Formats: sequence, structure tokens, C-alpha cells
Amino acid sequence: MPEGHSVHRIARQFARHFLDVPVAVSSPQGRFAAGAAQLDGHTIVQSRAVGKQMFLEFEHGLWLRIHLGMYGAWDFAGEIDVDDTLASANGRMGQTNQRGTVVGSHEDSPWSIGAPRRARLRMSESEKLGAELETFPPEPVGQVRVRLLTSTTVADLRGPTACEVLTAEEVDRVLAKLGPDPLVDDLAEAEERFVATVRKKPTAIALLLMDQSVVAGIGNVYRAELLFRARQSPFTPGRDVPTDTVRALWRDWVHLLTIGVETGQMLTMDGLDDEAHARALASRDDRHWVYHRTGEPCRVCGTPIAMRELGGRKLYWCPTDQA
Ligand SMILES: [Zn+2]
Repeated sequence: MPEGHSVHRIARQFARHFLDVPVAVSSPQGRFAAGAAQLDGHTIVQSRAVGKQMFLEFEHGLWLRIHLGMYGAWDFAGEIDVDDTLASANGRMGQTNQRGTVVGSHEDSPWSIGAPRRARLRMSESEKLGAELETFPPEPVGQVRVRLLTSTTVADLRGPTACEVLTAEEVDRVLAKLGPDPLVDDLAEAEERFVATVRKKPTAIALLLMDQSVVAGIGNVYRAELLFRARQSPFTPGRDVPTDTVRALWRDWVHLLTIGVETGQMLTMDGLDDEAHARALASRDDRHWVYHRTGEPCRVCGTPIAMRELGGRKLYWCPTDQA
């Protein structure tokens, strides 16, 4: 499932390419036809992410709310920006047969070879450059819930958990239920709010970190990694976690989210040398302390990493370092 950093990156992609121009809104699949008709031909004036949700504000006062959930993904095509990190990471993964255009990419990236003007980019849990675009706009492929189209760029949404038109008041109600997001809220206030909420709860800290009303944007990867980085047992009730540790968890989340938004990757290991950093960018197996490493030796103490289901999601931890 896309975590907060992905959703912020998607919102920024919309801010770069879809603001202040008329947008043709349609639902090629038909399931969102009525909603699309309410937005069609209007102009997007704001694109924002809060936690795992994205909100596009249109000039006539209506909003489009999107929650990608487990299976949702955006496909962008046309004149789109793709950042250096993604281009070089994709290049390292060996997809050199594809020749997408990367605006502002590394000169030595395979993506900047040739001179096609249009690219494809899929943004969901991870980001992936697609094959070169031959015609614009491309035909919608598969179950496209909503298509947003300008004269130069198109975005197709498939498989979201939520895709709905809201009024400003309805958006406020959704936002009121969400915990703080470091990239949205005042940092000092947000930290105090997070600490106060966690320290009141009898719930295990591993569950609190995934509760979007406690903190918005953390998902399964970040929660496992944050807890390991703090050497904190996942099972301690929030109210029994020392205040300094709760504060440290918040500050570490701010740090990791910032890296995630910059790189598009959930890089959760610090202090890597160049080679290890390159491996981490290219492969998930080389990127994390505990996530998805069941039975493998802890990178710090060698104890096999443990896994169990908690709240319906897999939780990974080191039983020694996080005793
Ligand atoms: Zn360990």
C-alpha cells in the first residue's frame, strides 16, 4: 500500500502539471461517470496530500478525494517530470530497453538517450517508468476509474479505495479525523499532538503508528522500520512508551518521510556507503532493517527477524534489539 511519501509525491506531480489549466475529467470505466461530470472542464487550483489521501481542489469549489488503498495506482503520460533519483534507480534495475523521456534527468541515465518528448510514469507504492509514448493521449487501458486530461498531460487512476467528489465542508470533516502529517501541519504542534495521543492509549505502539487518526501517512514498511530504529518493542502500550521515545519516533518519521518524498523510495537505513546506497535504491531487499526479512539475521545483532500478524498486517521486528 502506498505510504505517505508516495501520496505527497503524487500530489506534487499534479501540482506541476495540472494546475490552472482546464482539465477534461472522464470515467472511461464508467463507475465514476457522475462524479466526473461534476468536475469536467473545470480548473484545478490546489493539489494537496494529507497522510495517505490526496485532495484536488477545483475552481468552482468542489474537491476530488482519492485514497489509493491496497491496489490503487496513477499512470501519468505526456510531458511529465521524473526526478533524477528515480531515473537512475530505474536505470540500475536494467530496464534499459525502454526509452522514456525524462525531463531534467541525469545526463548519463539511459532515460535521457534519444529525444522523445513524452514519457509514461506509474505512481503507486513505487514508481516505474513505462515504455515510450507513441500517441497522445494514449487510449485508456483496463479499468480506469477517472482520467484527468490537459492539452499536454494525462493521469489515469485505477483501483482506488476511494474516489469521490466532496464539498469544502466535507473535506474539512475528512481532515478533522486525521492525525498530524509532518508535511502539512506545524511541526512543533504536530509533535505535541502525536506525543499526547500516544501517551494516552493502552494500544500497542505498533498499532498506534498505523492508526491514521494518531499519525497520518505511516504504513506497514515505515512502522516496522521506525520501531527498529528506536529499538522499541512493537507490543508496548502507547502509554508505557517513554515520552522521549515517542518524541524520537515522531522526529524520525519526519526525517524518513522527507527522504521518502525526495527520493521516491522508503530508504530507512542511514549511513550507507555509496555502494550500499546504490544497492538500497535498486533493491528492496537491501533497503530495510527488518521489513520483509523474516528469519534473516538482524543486521545489528544477528538474531533472526521475527514476524507475526498484528491488526491484519505483517509486523517485523528483532526480538533481541526490540525486546
Ligand atoms: Zn537485532
